[in-house]
Amino acid sequence: MFRCTVCGTEYSEFRHTCSKCGSVLLAVDYPMKWEPEGVGLWRYSSMLPVLRSISLSEGGTPLVRRRDSEEEVFLKFEGDNPTGSFKDRGSSVVISDAFNQGYKSTTVASTGNMGASVAAYSAYANMTTRIFIPEGIPPEKVAQITAYGAELVPVPGGFAQAVKSSLEETEKGIYLASSGLNPYFIEGLKTIAFEIFEQMGVPDRVVVPTGTGGLLTAIHKGFEELRSLGVSDKVPQMIAVQSAVVAPIVEAWRDRTELRTPGEVSTIASAILVKVPFNGRSAIDSMNRSGGYGVTVTDHQLIQAIKALGQEGIFAEPAAAASMAALPDLEPWPDARTVLMITGSGLKDPSVVLRRDL
Ligand SMILES: [Zn+2]
Repeated sequence: MFRCTVCGTEYSEFRHTCSKCGSVLLAVDYPMKWEPEGVGLWRYSSMLPVLRSISLSEGGTPLVRRRDSEEEVFLKFEGDNPTGSFKDRGSSVVISDAFNQGYKSTTVASTGNMGASVAAYSAYANMTTRIFIPEGIPPEKVAQITAYGAELVPVPGGFAQAVKSSLEETEKGIYLASSGLNPYFIEGLKTIAFEIFEQMGVPDRVVVPTGTGGLLTAIHKGFEELRSLGVSDKVPQMIAVQSAVVAPIVEAWRDRTELRTPGEVSTIASAILVKVPFNGRSAIDSMNRSGGYGVTVTDHQLIQAIKALGQEGIFAEPAAAASMAALPDLEPWPDARTVLMITGSGLKDPSVVLRRDL
């Protein structure tokens, strides 16, 4: 079954958005059993609503304890996925669904990482794909998408306009592999919670670089499912980190208001530069239900965090370092066991570390 993240309307058939309020849906109430078997993402097949068809051995990423820190801080490095970001978890599940349903073409709007991921999985599934990207995407990401053989369509007017273009494609019978508008994407991402649980038990808090809000929603969903099955007995605090210049989720959480769309902005954290976050409401819901909160970080803090992660042997792209950048601003909690999500590889956007103006 699929449930609207805003008005709660339930649907028995797969769909992209709620017909009543237009919001995104989550997959809920399907049979689930905690029976991990094998390696990587599909180790958790018994917790997923889609049968495995297309996999590039995603998931199974390292959880590294931070050195020289009195606090217990762990780095969950999702750059160690096939295309270098956490998106591969969602892509494996949604492209498996597209394959199982007999689709031959996929499409998505992307700030770069999602496009690269969908392009790789579509190529492996022998499907054509068309990726709509806003202007200002790092050239390394454009190169990666091109290498997988996808058709790239630059769209003026930002991410929201790119999403509109991708939605028009679905009217032609093309599968929408969107991170925000395909409920199965969240299902792939939630396996991060299962892995963290097997690697260290349930942490006290998880800090998540946040663009659409989908990743935070998904990790929280995974931990809630473990608790509802009686596998674990608690859910960590979910903490969202956004760029100080584009923080609609953190601001709406803080001010207890509707999500407001920021104006023209620029940040090196291109992977979380999302002005209209599809999973914004569900992310705020997850933050509130888990006793979590939101933090914003500046570009200068991001560069410092990239360098601090480098000292741990991890190279992160700017958005992926947002969790590390937020660490000094978390609420004091002695003895807390904290997981920082490091969402993508520094090789995605390497030249930013050479900038001298930040
Ligand atoms: Zn609704």
